[in-house]
Amino acid sequence: MASYTPTIGLEIHAELKTATKMFCGCRNNPDEVAPNTNVCAVCLAHPGTLPVMNGEAVRKVLLVGKALNATLADFSEFDRKNYFYPDIPKGYQISQYQYPLVQGGSLGGVAVTRVHLEEDTARSQHVGDKSLVDYNRAGVPLMELVTEPVIHDAATAGAFARELQLLLRTLGAGEANMEKGEMRVEANISVSKDATFGTKVEVKNLNSFRSVERAIEYEVKRQIELIESGGTVVQETRGWDEAKQVTFSQRKKESSHDYRYFPDPDLPKLMVSESPTLSHLELPELPSQMRERLRAMGFLQDQDIEQLVGDAQLTQLFAAVESKNADPAILKVAANFILNDIAGQIKKDPVWQLPSADFLLEVITKYQSGAIASPQAKASILTGVHAEAMSTDALSDIAKQVIDANPSVVAEFKAGKEASMQFLVGQGMKLSKGSANPQALRDAIQTILA
Ligand code: ADP
Ligand code: ZN
Ligand code: MG
Repeated sequence: MASYTPTIGLEIHAELKTATKMFCGCRNNPDEVAPNTNVCAVCLAHPGTLPVMNGEAVRKVLLVGKALNATLADFSEFDRKNYFYPDIPKGYQISQYQYPLVQGGSLGGVAVTRVHLEEDTARSQHVGDKSLVDYNRAGVPLMELVTEPVIHDAATAGAFARELQLLLRTLGAGEANMEKGEMRVEANISVSKDATFGTKVEVKNLNSFRSVERAIEYEVKRQIELIESGGTVVQETRGWDEAKQVTFSQRKKESSHDYRYFPDPDLPKLMVSESPTLSHLELPELPSQMRERLRAMGFLQDQDIEQLVGDAQLTQLFAAVESKNADPAILKVAANFILNDIAGQIKKDPVWQLPSADFLLEVITKYQSGAIASPQAKASILTGVHAEAMSTDALSDIAKQVIDANPSVVAEFKAGKEASMQFLVGQGMKLSKGSANPQALRDAIQTILA
């Protein structure tokens, strides 16, 4: 029996991190819990409104393209993708069809077909026989990246998605949390015994990297068994059932002509190469470059390198130490403290304020001179409270701002929803740029609400 080769191509959507939505001035806030608050006449598609393009979003997609070493468009435009559904109030989604912002390029050895920019849809929720729609997400900038069908196993597909998440975070393009739906992966899967492609199936509802891998493994096995038992694979969209760990048929796939794409006459054409803000793009150090650099230092294991590269807070601290002291012997100790003590403390307390590079270097000096006597003492100094204690006035000021800015969340809290307090504290921590003590902040909020 000839063996089968699986072929996989990914389509990945990622919400971009921008101040406002793609075509209106509404806030783009993925953490907004009160439904239908970040909405306006434009993103609710009231008659007579017109879209205004968000340049920050366009720039972020181009930055991604540059990082992929892709071809950035000279000319680009937006198209209308027409369909009827409550999550798309205009009756069409503004997307890109013939002239995407980015074509070609690759990531981790996987060839990319294109990256384009579109708007996200509203979030629908089905409760009993009713459907609820939250338009906070409608019109949020969304990039779609499509890979070539060049992946042949589940692990490579999972690795690609993880690497893209890391890249988006490094570029500041998006948070790309899969469990929050900020990044959504669809896997196209086929199997074949020869050089021609088999019929592909598209799998959706993949809410974690693990699900991406599991669903591909399941689907490859299902297709092979189906063909072996005399059946044929039909082109369709299948969902992933997380509980049962199986794919199931959802619908036979529509083709692109069903959407009647045409250029959106309400938006200007983009002359990318003629725009200074769009054509002068500065890339930060990319994850792949950082890996190389860390490897060249010679004292870090691959696993340590992945841990450092994968966490922005750790990366920043290590880079800050490096900029102050490039002595490899010192950096080796710094890496050790960061990967163990510091990373361990972040795990215990995600809002913990990290020490500064200066403080870390001071601890290293004292530890090496014997002024700090034991590893335990060193660990407890490193993982202590590093934030300047905030004054009660400053804390209650932040608490007031948070309460004023989130009336509906406050109402939920007063109605007994404990999780709402978590949210308010989180907003306060952001306002304080991480320098408030979360418990003290919670107390301050509760004092005002009492
Ligand atoms: P469609 O026209 O159905 O949208 P595309 O050619 O645009 O198909 O490809 C969509 C995605 O499916 C891409 O990620 C591509 O790599 C992948 N793909 C295309 N053909 C196959 C195949 N035979 N097996 C697996 N994936 C495929
Ligand atoms: Zn709006
Ligand atoms: Mg297609």
